[in-house]
Amino acid sequence: MPVNTEVLKQFQAEAKTHGAILVAVSKTRPVAEIRAAYEAGQRDFGENYVQELIDKQALLPPDINWHFIGHLQSNKVKYIAPFVHLIHGVDSLNLLKEINKQALKNNRLINCLLQVFIAREETKFGLDQEETKDILYSEKLKELKNASIIGLMGMASNTENMEQVASEFESLASMYRELKIRNPQFKYLSMGMTSDYPIALKAGSTLIRIGSALFGEREKK
Ligand SMILES: *Cc1c(COP(=O)(O)O)cnc(C)c1O
Repeated sequence: MPVNTEVLKQFQAEAKTHGAILVAVSKTRPVAEIRAAYEAGQRDFGENYVQELIDKQALLPPDINWHFIGHLQSNKVKYIAPFVHLIHGVDSLNLLKEINKQALKNNRLINCLLQVFIAREETKFGLDQEETKDILYSEKLKELKNASIIGLMGMASNTENMEQVASEFESLASMYRELKIRNPQFKYLSMGMTSDYPIALKAGSTLIRIGSALFGEREKK
């Protein structure tokens, strides 16, 4: 399905109303569809797979903000370090060390979000509250001058129970607000996808990651 620019504009407007940014999740979608969204004014795109991201980045305009929203392996950081705008799913100090190392090589500062586990189901990646603080307040982090943690990212349970989703987002938002007091560099709270973004925006999301509502349903990988 080609991207529907009317729908795209509605999402951009809705995000803006809430002071949030729309990340168009373009994983599995062809370059032509991304280009169409770009031409309709979209600049932030999210990808989950390193190879796919580098292939697309090479073919698309240089002023796109590429968000890496998947689970990033340390040995692949080097491929995206030259250009990535924001890495959403950071869940260990070791990964941060590698991001810092590759950022330094590229003479860049790479912004990151820590992925926090908020869902009740077992399958999602992420840190708990304790682990998040351990990383944020570790001595080691102070040495990583080329990697900056500028917020949190989370995914709610994949459930029809919207009260549960709301309570998961609210718990992440309250953690974000608390941490922001001692971390003034905090700028983004990334939460909300097609099925739950209105709840995420209401809870205080500043980055919504929308795929299927913009590009149509994906084939399962
Ligand atoms: C695929 C994906 C999205 C977008 O999901 P939709 O339901 O298609 O909006 C958002 N966040 C992450 C981390 C994803 O992997």
